[in-house]
Amino acid sequence: MSKLMQGKRGLIMGVANDHSIAWSIAKALAEQGAEMAFTYQGDAFARRVKPLADSIGCDLLVPCDVEDIDSVDNVFAQLKEKWGTIDFLVHAIAFSDKSELRGRYADTSRDNFARTMQISCFSFTEIAKRAAELMPNGGSMLTLTYGGATSVMPNYNVMGVAKAALEASVRYLAMDFGDQGIRVNAISAGPVRTLAGAGVSDARLMFNFQQNNSPLKQTVTSKQLGGSALYLLSEMSGGVTGEVHFVDSGYNIVSMPRLEELKT
Ligand code: NAD
Repeated sequence: MSKLMQGKRGLIMGVANDHSIAWSIAKALAEQGAEMAFTYQGDAFARRVKPLADSIGCDLLVPCDVEDIDSVDNVFAQLKEKWGTIDFLVHAIAFSDKSELRGRYADTSRDNFARTMQISCFSFTEIAKRAAELMPNGGSMLTLTYGGATSVMPNYNVMGVAKAALEASVRYLAMDFGDQGIRVNAISAGPVRTLAGAGVSDARLMFNFQQNNSPLKQTVTSKQLGGSALYLLSEMSGGVTGEVHFVDSGYNIVSMPRLEELKT
């Protein structure tokens, strides 16, 4: 049987190290024959990202800080020069000041609100627009969100607000690009131990709570996230766009922990 992503080329943004969700996705895509380019945020990340990219035969690795629009433009100029077109995009980028990922949302500062929104939400819109220009034959775009977008999670605060706007962006972008055969979706991942995940105060408590109280009684694995991304980025999901797909062991359907948990 031919591989699902054979002959497909795409851009992966958001690998910081081998724990990154973007890396879990890249591994699943590579196993199915995809060819990928990677971005990394700056020199400090290059040291970790380059060996990973090398391990799957990637020879296009470009620095990109989404706060610097010239660096975003440079990524797409390089993709255009090297490949001309792409078939998929993974956006797995988020940032907020750690000191505001604790306490009350009401105490969010104006500056950090704007910066969190720009990096964690608007960057997807800016990048999607540029990626669509390189997708004349259609394509698939994917971003990453979290359940804190739709219900209140302790300490997630301004990031939850940014993720809500990101999820709305997914729907608007799906409409904008639908007639070009470009699909836009998000995975809402359960908690994963990553650099970004550790930035949220009491991350370990949240991780354990969701593990104990999700229907599957487990946290999501790198393989599960990679598999769901593969589905959304491949033709297997050809009729799916504008969706937020939960990959969270079912935690999002629970309104109250199992009663036996409360009795112990
Ligand atoms: P990670 O720390 O491995 O990845 C976050 C990435 O964002 C890093 O590669 C970092 O370099 C990049 N980034 C931050 N600011 C940037 C900027 N200005 N320019 C360019 N890149 C920048 O953590 P992760 O958990 O793999 O995060 C990936 C995505 O998954 C994020 O959107 C995150 O919100 C989302 N997510 C994470 C979890 C979790 O529990 N870890 C759950 C649901 C969703």
